[in-house]
Amino acid sequence: MSANTSLVIELAQIPPEGLAVDTDLDAGALHLEADGAFELNAGAHLVCRIERGEGDSVHVKGRFTAEAGLGCSRCLERSLFPVGQALDVFYLPRIVDRTVDAEEEDDVELSDHDLVVAYYEGGRFDLGELVREQIVLSLPMKPLCVEGCRGLCLQCGANRNQHDCGCKPLADPRLSGLADLLGPGSK
Ligand SMILES: [Zn+2]
Ligand SMILES: [Zn+2]
Repeated sequence: MSANTSLVIELAQIPPEGLAVDTDLDAGALHLEADGAFELNAGAHLVCRIERGEGDSVHVKGRFTAEAGLGCSRCLERSLFPVGQALDVFYLPRIVDRTVDAEEEDDVELSDHDLVVAYYEGGRFDLGELVREQIVLSLPMKPLCVEGCRGLCLQCGANRNQHDCGCKPLADPRLSGLADLLGPGSK
């Protein structure tokens, strides 16, 4: 598929027996140019089945596999995080005449049972949007390149995983207090 892959599904496109989707995922399909929450590594893939349900509902069931590139929260090195997971989503038509500001709401809401309800408008929905949101929700808040990453030296900026810069512990007690605050024990 081209770099402009779109995963927008028109309801009218879904035949009575359902629609099988088996496609690679790219940054364009997931709208990552505008978002920038993570980088998508090559080889991301989506397999799912889309079926019309009762009323105007649409059921999407399948799975995606992807690797998201994120900077380590301690040493800033880019690392890959596998984020594949099952999809089991019911799309319902969005009720437009609500008084709340619908634009401010999340498009995808998670319930207690991993059942995901999403909303479509204008007879279409975007699987790329869905996958992007699922990836964002599953990414760690404080990504680490490795468990116990030693981070950057507070004095010289060296990546302490790669070499021991040999900087002495800070002598000034006020600064060593600061080092404690910024050290590995910090949240
Ligand atoms: Zn790191
Ligand atoms: Zn150093």
